[in-house]
Amino acid sequence: MMTGFSLLIDGKAHAGSGSFDVVNPATGQAFAHCPRADETLLNDAVAAAKAAFPGWARTPASERARLVHALADALESRSEEFARLLTSEQGKPLGQAQYELMASVGTLRTFAEMKIEPRTLRDDERGLVIEHRTPLGVVAAITPWNFPVILLMNKVGPALVAGNTMVAKPAPTTPLTTLLFGELCREILPAGVVNIICDENDLGSLLTGHPDVAKVAFTGSTATGSKVMQSAAKGIKRVTLELGGNDAAIVLDDADVKDVAGKVFHGAMLNAGQICVAVKRAYVPSAMYDPFCDELARLAKDMVVDEGTRQGAEIGPVQNRAQYEKVKAFLADANENGNVIAGGMALDRPGYFIAPTIVRDLPRDARIVQEEQFGPVLPVLAYDDIDMLIDEVNASDYGLAGTVWGQDRKRALEVAMQIDSGTVWVNQHMAIDPSIPFRGSKQSGLGGELGQAGLHEYTQAHIVNAAA
Ligand code: NAD
Repeated sequence: MMTGFSLLIDGKAHAGSGSFDVVNPATGQAFAHCPRADETLLNDAVAAAKAAFPGWARTPASERARLVHALADALESRSEEFARLLTSEQGKPLGQAQYELMASVGTLRTFAEMKIEPRTLRDDERGLVIEHRTPLGVVAAITPWNFPVILLMNKVGPALVAGNTMVAKPAPTTPLTTLLFGELCREILPAGVVNIICDENDLGSLLTGHPDVAKVAFTGSTATGSKVMQSAAKGIKRVTLELGGNDAAIVLDDADVKDVAGKVFHGAMLNAGQICVAVKRAYVPSAMYDPFCDELARLAKDMVVDEGTRQGAEIGPVQNRAQYEKVKAFLADANENGNVIAGGMALDRPGYFIAPTIVRDLPRDARIVQEEQFGPVLPVLAYDDIDMLIDEVNASDYGLAGTVWGQDRKRALEVAMQIDSGTVWVNQHMAIDPSIPFRGSKQSGLGGELGQAGLHEYTQAHIVNAAA
């Protein structure tokens, strides 16, 4: 059993008020003890962040940026240790864990290079108007279990650069990489600037409702996002919600079947399908439906499913037992209502492994078409009329992202413009870049992360308006 992890409160390692086990999803066995907080420690963490705020907000922006760069450098120098721990707690293949670490380093560096400059909105005979941006105070950062490192860095980078302090709370099934990051914060940052607590899914509402928290930066499910919004309402707290999705891949009739099937498949299966912007339903013209489905099935059967630490593993387990049971329920529905042409079952081995699955010939209202599966199971549907299809795709309550695939770029762009979602990628997928804003429409989110706009979400616009 791995031990020795600590919470981070006011610059000090804290053993917590108790502990719980963390399970390796590739074995189904506990492999580490994680310290947990209670309400008293949560209050201590918020109090430490509150006390550290005035000093951090007054620290010159160049010095804050230097320290965020130092965090990036430290994360990079220990990235192999982080990646191994990430694979153990999350399940993803080691190469993908290493990629998450390097992308996290890049995110911190991108934010450390961003500036928040005052803007002169008017300077004429009517007067002088300047818009400043000031930090908000204590940010509560709450993250899910699919990308525990990078989704935290998406919050740490802008929050710190803008002059806020933070209490971070990871998901209970993937807390360890966040605690390890706490060690870097302890060495590099002034006490109280970043605090880290862990829970067993029981402290979230106390944190988001805490009167001394000014903003909640949340990534997780739409159901929990709604609760976050409710509890933040009382103090009119700022919220950023990055929530669920049911992203469609729309394949146009001039697409290259083999090439696009490969890319759509990759977009559906990466991280065992547990990506907010994974391809969660694919729509293919009727004339191309059979060859496209066949190619997807071939790819699914070829995929190497194994423990993330094994050489050659392309897809690991689903991250936790609850999600594993949820994906199995989707499989049962798919087996009953559609034609499963690859996979279709859980693997007969320890851990939470699901065979990469392709389902065709499903009714439009099948559960797996309408809901977010968050697992390695892709439904493929045929269509004949692109305008009707756009309406069908847009009928979802979600609007996170989506993709359009076709050789005529102008036509593909015209279709992309009509999709009601925060992002649409054309002839590529998951081109997420920390300098490009990312946000969801409808029930996929509120506000956004990344880009200069994402940095501004950690600030209050402040107008100073002087007479001429
Ligand atoms: P979840 O909503 O169950 O949990 C997310 C976090 O919220 C965890 O840390 C959890 O402990 C905490 N939490 C639980 N109850 C809470 C409460 N009442 N108040 C505050 N916090 C609470 O989500 P999950 O199952 O961990 O993650 C999967 C979901 O996240 C999927 O729907 C996925 O699409 C979404 N997601 C979205 C994005 C995005 O950027 N839009 C990125 C990754 C994941």
